[in-house]
Amino acid sequence: MTDQVRPPEVDRVAASRKAVAARRARASLKRDIAMRVVTPQEVLRRAFADPHSPAGTLRVPEFLTALPAIGEGKRDRILAELQISPVKRLGGLGTRQREALAAWLDRRMPVRGHRRTRSSLVVLAGPTAVGKGTVAAHIREHHPEVLLSISATTRAPRPGEVDGQHYYFVSDAEFDRMIAEDELLEWATVHGEHRYGTPRGPIDDAILAGRSVLLEIDMQGAFQVRRSEPTATLVFLLPPSWDELVNRLVGRGTEGAEERARRLRTAKVELAAQNDFDFRIVNDDVAVAAQQVVDLMQASAR
Ligand code: 5GP
Repeated sequence: MTDQVRPPEVDRVAASRKAVAARRARASLKRDIAMRVVTPQEVLRRAFADPHSPAGTLRVPEFLTALPAIGEGKRDRILAELQISPVKRLGGLGTRQREALAAWLDRRMPVRGHRRTRSSLVVLAGPTAVGKGTVAAHIREHHPEVLLSISATTRAPRPGEVDGQHYYFVSDAEFDRMIAEDELLEWATVHGEHRYGTPRGPIDDAILAGRSVLLEIDMQGAFQVRRSEPTATLVFLLPPSWDELVNRLVGRGTEGAEERARRLRTAKVELAAQNDFDFRIVNDDVAVAAQQVVDLMQASAR
């Protein structure tokens, strides 16, 4: 008889484990929305594509309060305006409600469309610890046809770094001279400490020779490049999730607790700027992300 009793119990344990896992996945997704690792539009796409996914089973009120600057009062007004019951889950919305929610989102937080760009100058930026350096290094190794710009910096070389290969390590006075003589396409003080800048000459030469150029620089630099070269393509590298970004920063072990907290605060601000980029690429797998960057460069050059 015990055979007849056991399976339902096993089922219950399995079901409750599944429920815990689903709740965790939804909590993680809400962090991703709040930290802007995913756009709300992408969450809707996932929810409508699969109502059983973490996005699909997320309740609409929880989705709304995960968005920036939406508290409980605003949430209730939006639900009333869109005529959506607070018990509804994203995946359970009817066609008309889906359209109303999607249209409301697009009005409230528009995502920059892919611009038609001409130049093969591509800027790769993204939050701290997302792995920009690793993706750039992968491109350097596997795509010699791409010129990876070498920046000038006032910071000291780390062990193993070679002048002229990883950076041009320069003095403050030399950096001042480069600025004064307009030798830098952009420059910025990064992490409130040292100055970094992109030498203009090699880039101009490479573009003239028809080569693609990749800059791996910080966000301030990315926007400066857009100002001086409006045809440049700005690519934002995203972590697979906020939790993963935190793991990478902690796992790297190169920063102390205070510095880590500071960098995470910076990352939060940086993620909020992603909608101003032309493309977003998720760095889940370095080789795949690198290939996507290279594909974009080839598409831009056409
Ligand atoms: P690290 O000191 O770890 O090599 O680099 C620190 C940061 O400086 C990275 O986020 C990197 O993207 C940024 N960076 C490196 N070169 C440049 C540059 O030429 N211009 C700007 N704006 N940022 C740079």
